Amino acid sequence: MTTSTEVTDVEIARQLASADVSNLSVAKRLGVPWGRVDEVRQRKGLETFQRGRRAVEASWEEAVSRRVKPVEDGHAEWTGQTYPRGTPMLSWRGRAETAYRAVFRIRHGREPQGNITHAPSCVREFCVAGEHLEDRVLREERRCREGGS
Ligand SMILES: [Zn+2]
Repeated sequence: MTTSTEVTDVEIARQLASADVSNLSVAKRLGVPWGRVDEVRQRKGLETFQRGRRAVEASWEEAVSRRVKPVEDGHAEWTGQTYPRGTPMLSWRGRAETAYRAVFRIRHGREPQGNITHAPSCVREFCVAGEHLEDRVLREERRCREGGS
């Protein structure tokens, strides 16, 4: 992992020029603040990233939250597409995954490990409330807390 002090402006400029990438994706890839990438882009006079494409990328989380409708008792309903058996599905730029994974990623800021299941306290089928979803890591943590085996 590189730190921001080790990343040179030249490297940032090279990344910016290499493909149709947004400031944000370069910032993430190099681990530098977005503002620094934007600064380099402007200083080097590099063309601004295509507006339409960036808007799509920026609204990924929005696309998820727009389809999550909070309902009673802290549960949430998925208003988007579903798989044939009813599992909430997020279809985004040609890629489909369960809405559970997308919601989980937003809520916890990391990829879910293993299967996602509902916490025992959630009795609502197909609930997409972030705090009601558990991956393997969260399940194990909860079992430890509960003192079970
Ligand atoms: Zn729930």
